Amino acid sequence: MSNVISLFDDTQKYEERPVVILADDDPSIRLMVRHVLESEDYDIIEAADGLEAIRAVEKHHPALILLDAVMPGLDGFTTCQQVKDKGYKDIPVIMITGLDDDASVERAYEVGAIDFITKPIKWAVLKHRVRSVIAKVVAERKVELLAYRDSLTQLPNRLLFADRLEQAIIRAARNRDAVALMLLDLDDFKLVNDSFGHDTGDKLIKSIAQLLSNSLRRADTVARLGGDEFAVIVENIDKASDAVSIADNLTTILKHNVKIDNHETFTSASVGIAVYPDDGTDAHTLLKNADTAMFRAKENGRHCFQFYTPEMSVNAMERLDLENSLRNALKNDEFVLLYQPMIEMHKNEVAGIEALLRWQHPEKGMIEPEDFIPVAEDAGLILPIGEWVIGTVCKQLKQWQQAGLDQQNISINISARQFRDQDIVSLFERELADNGVAASCISIDLAEATLIDNVGEAEKVLVKLHDMGMGIAIHDFGTGFASVAYLKDFAVDMVKLDRVFISGIPDSEADSAIVTAVAGLTRGLKLKLLAVGVENERQLQMLQGLGCQMGQGFYWSKPLPADQYEQFYLNRYYNLG
Ligand code: GH3
Ligand code: MG
Repeated sequence: MSNVISLFDDTQKYEERPVVILADDDPSIRLMVRHVLESEDYDIIEAADGLEAIRAVEKHHPALILLDAVMPGLDGFTTCQQVKDKGYKDIPVIMITGLDDDASVERAYEVGAIDFITKPIKWAVLKHRVRSVIAKVVAERKVELLAYRDSLTQLPNRLLFADRLEQAIIRAARNRDAVALMLLDLDDFKLVNDSFGHDTGDKLIKSIAQLLSNSLRRADTVARLGGDEFAVIVENIDKASDAVSIADNLTTILKHNVKIDNHETFTSASVGIAVYPDDGTDAHTLLKNADTAMFRAKENGRHCFQFYTPEMSVNAMERLDLENSLRNALKNDEFVLLYQPMIEMHKNEVAGIEALLRWQHPEKGMIEPEDFIPVAEDAGLILPIGEWVIGTVCKQLKQWQQAGLDQQNISINISARQFRDQDIVSLFERELADNGVAASCISIDLAEATLIDNVGEAEKVLVKLHDMGMGIAIHDFGTGFASVAYLKDFAVDMVKLDRVFISGIPDSEADSAIVTAVAGLTRGLKLKLLAVGVENERQLQMLQGLGCQMGQGFYWSKPLPADQYEQFYLNRYYNLG
């Protein structure tokens, strides 16, 4: 494989027509060769000596080099040797020599020439030899392009990248130096596709490929591994700080703001780095560890780089474990919904119920959503889990209606990824119709950030759901006051104030000030306010004093399984009510 693969370097595009470099100090020979090859479809670049020939090779990446053996300055043999030493091992060289002795022939082959032509040149022979060599090179280049290049960016693909990495490791082992493998994944690239279309996404990928190629040394490899993932191999690293400055540079230049098709697109990348030999002595381990580090960079907020550390593997193993058992959790029916009433405080009445997802893990016990939802989102499991929640809530509503507990309204948490990637409007329509439940029995709960990240699209979806009759609430409110302005534009009915603020009132001045401010804001925007995590009478009094209408918390009830909630409701309204 290496034979074909290492034919060409990455930074140069192949010229449309094959280039032949002809180095001879005799202008009349150059003239004659040009004349003889005129009818062929080649570009001929002339060089009068060896140094000029080497410069032309670097610039034009020829399909063939014709070298006169005897030239002033660098002779043909030395020139050939230097061309090969510079990494152009697979560009064929034909030596033109008047020295028809055995030693010269031997030397021509030793320095890497594939053939030689003796002077006086037989022009017909020259023409046919050149033709057959070039036909072979052109065919090899086509194969190489198809098999080893990414068709969008022309960068090496995963296959060629794997070969390059293996070769880099072999060289580093021989020279006792280090190699850094950097994996780069663009941040939130799906947003570009979703907002501006796939074509614009493609153009952005191409421009990133160009940026990466331009910013690295010629000897470094940049590859596109697939999707929005790139890899960079940096050789001859002798200290960690070299890799730090390269990674720093890459993350900086990839914070990229570019106009494509009149759209202002913006991107950044997360980079994971594994270094040979410390983080792995084979390509597979290095890749796995760089991937783990990249994952950590994403977790740490994106647009940053992370070097691999062994502890990451422990976490990654735990995570993999979690991911694997999550995959089985749906099948094994391990998810449960708990129901917690939401109380309209001044009437002391149940105004709705929040459905809370829990994972009943067979060994680890009850797992809270914050401990598995992020994993489910990354593993692409959030969509089936989200579907299960919506389906289960609709079935539950139907069951309660049949049991006479009508007028129930259940509020469902929708994760950011589910909101972004799933057609939740159709999903709700289907589940509501299948179970004969009215849309007005459902409210959806979204995190504030979900709206801010998807302003245009989110607005349309929310308006549709609202028009169907669903309530819309925002939770985690208070984490970004700047977004209050958005609430006016969305079809939001209610704001849920996080328990972290409620737990401090009325004693903490800071929390009291925040709760007071949010109560004022929501009143001004004519939105309902629900306080989450109400536990005692003093909190209740302060909230009512501020005009907060709704509350949820242990003060009334903890989250309950469906049958216990049913009992709670019946006791409240039929025995105690
Ligand atoms: P994250 O920050 O977690 O990396 O999120 P992301 O949105 O970048 O998503 P992720 O890296 O998981 O997925 C990359 C997306 O890139 C998936 C797919 O929609 C899109 N994609 C994959 N290949 C192509 C392509 O060839 N062209 C375009 N335009 N988009 C692609
Ligand atoms: Mg990405």
